Amino acid sequence: MKKYKSKKAVFIFLSVLSIAVLILLSFLLWYLIQPRVATFSKYVALGVKLVLVVFILGVSGGLFLIVLSAITEKDFLLPYGKKQITIKVLFPINLFLAKIFGWSKEMVRESFVEVNNSLFLAQGKRIKNDRVLVLLPQCLQKFDCAHKVTADIDNCNRCGGCLINDIIELKEKYNLSLAVATGGTLARKVVVEKRPTVIIAVACDRDLTSGIQDVFPIPVYGVLNQRPNGPCVNTRVDMRKLESAIKFILNGVD
Ligand code: SF4
Repeated sequence: MKKYKSKKAVFIFLSVLSIAVLILLSFLLWYLIQPRVATFSKYVALGVKLVLVVFILGVSGGLFLIVLSAITEKDFLLPYGKKQITIKVLFPINLFLAKIFGWSKEMVRESFVEVNNSLFLAQGKRIKNDRVLVLLPQCLQKFDCAHKVTADIDNCNRCGGCLINDIIELKEKYNLSLAVATGGTLARKVVVEKRPTVIIAVACDRDLTSGIQDVFPIPVYGVLNQRPNGPCVNTRVDMRKLESAIKFILNGVD
């Protein structure tokens, strides 16, 4: 899986910067309130200082462990939920910092998806095939295909006109659940119906980012789609990357 990790650096850099900003802001806050707090009593001043120190150590320590887990793909945090909650904090801060640098949202989102994948892999969980749901966006289907695969993937007549056919072959090879969703609402409905342990989702950076947070606490391994014809029309996915993710999640090897 190493060959697919090149985009992580952006999110990791911004996360390290977030930690530095947080520490700086805490010192600034202490500098501003310290004269007033000192007028009460030395115990109040000590209490406020302790709260700030615990806050800095707790938050920056948590963020540091996330960064370390993402870089090494070793689990330095216990429950996945805690990582997700912290990512919900990190992600908006990183978007804000990226805006200052003039970096695009797309770049941060794509990097976020890679970091999220690394945090998932860091857990080293192997999942049984019947607990894995592969969720696809409708835009992977050929735009003028008359077969309604969102209602039932078996409606595809396997003409090979788009990658839906190839992905059905993967579904059959690994005996997975497979669904196509038109958007977030239908995707959530499919997830509620199938109740998977893990979702392997193919989508654009925007939908993957929101989807990863929407279906929490179910972990999502994201595979970014390719858009040679622009957004939402006849999109594609790197089939080697998708199969590699499936094999790794099932067996721990790609
Ligand atoms: S493989 Fe053919 S029938 Fe199936 S969704 Fe694509 S275009 Fe339609």
